[in-house]
Amino acid sequence: MSLNIQRNDQVEVISGADRGKRGRVLRVIPGESRILVEHVRVVKKNVRPNPQRNIKGGIAEQEAPIHISNVLLVCPSCGATRIGHKFEGDTKVRVCKKCGATLAAKSKSKRK
Ligand SMILES: [Zn+2]
Repeated sequence: MSLNIQRNDQVEVISGADRGKRGRVLRVIPGESRILVEHVRVVKKNVRPNPQRNIKGGIAEQEAPIHISNVLLVCPSCGATRIGHKFEGDTKVRVCKKCGATLAAKSKSKRK
């Protein structure tokens, strides 16, 4: 099964404690079908100081992976949506199942 979610996608969480939150996909872990979403499932971690790597001790906040079945891709016009596929020439693209808009990956964008 291929993953419909890619890095830098805008997704909405549809279950769990962070339900309704939206964020950008920071990382995809294909082997586990899990993703890291910015500001979603943030956990506090105690960090030990490590002077060699210039890390100060204390409490750091970090996103924990969530399963891709817990998120939906966000369509710019419809909001959270299911994804379909179609071919544009030889390229398979993702489309919004509601309005049919092409949902291109924004991986080349430098904007945050
Ligand atoms: Zn749409």
